[in-house]
Amino acid sequence: MGIKDRLREVVNGLPDAVTLVAVSKTQPTEVLMEAYAAGQRDFGENRVQELLEKQTALPTDIRWHLIGHLQRNKVKAIVPFIHLIHSIDSERLLKEVDRQAGLCGRAVYVLLQFHVAQEQTKFGFSLSEAEDMLGSDTFASMAHVRIRGIMGMATFTDDEQQVRSEFRELNRIFRHLKENFFRNDAQFSVLSMGMSGDYRLAVEEGSNMVRVGSAIFGNRH
Ligand SMILES: *Cc1c(COP(=O)(O)O)cnc(C)c1O
Repeated sequence: MGIKDRLREVVNGLPDAVTLVAVSKTQPTEVLMEAYAAGQRDFGENRVQELLEKQTALPTDIRWHLIGHLQRNKVKAIVPFIHLIHSIDSERLLKEVDRQAGLCGRAVYVLLQFHVAQEQTKFGFSLSEAEDMLGSDTFASMAHVRIRGIMGMATFTDDEQQVRSEFRELNRIFRHLKENFFRNDAQFSVLSMGMSGDYRLAVEEGSNMVRVGSAIFGNRH
């Protein structure tokens, strides 16, 4: 099966309301163009340098998503074009995005990343950290970032019940923040969860944006 067929298989298995971000990290531009030719427009990358190279080389109607950990000194480079940053994991990072977005004269859309998995290595806020930030004067003064929702990852495990319960927890966090901080903000609407191995479960648990790489592109390079 080629990329086009695998892409179609993933897309056909998703409800219409779920956005597919094709995670193209490590794949060469020709491979992205195959998915583009099949109609895919949302692409996710996890490294800024690679994202910049691909953004320069590929069609301008691609919507680029940054899904990996972002360092503050790399924010400036992506702010002019980025469609959605999924990986805001600290107030300092969000402040820098706000500052650079202001300098650029553009509103930048972001998701807050939450840590619910058991692995120590996964970045992200806890609920109380996020609540502290969202209730702060610092956050109130940020005029150039728009928080569109949250992103999270489940533990890498075969234990379906555990994965499901972590997605459920992310959904609870999403609804809690919506209710308490974004009740009248229709833009706060994105729940980004689910990767190749678990996106079906994620959708069952309320995901409306999945980030799928290897199920479309095969193994990474
Ligand atoms: C790599 C990556 C994905 C996609 O992983 P696959 O298992 O290849 O689908 C999704 N989200 C994040 C944050 C990633 O780094």
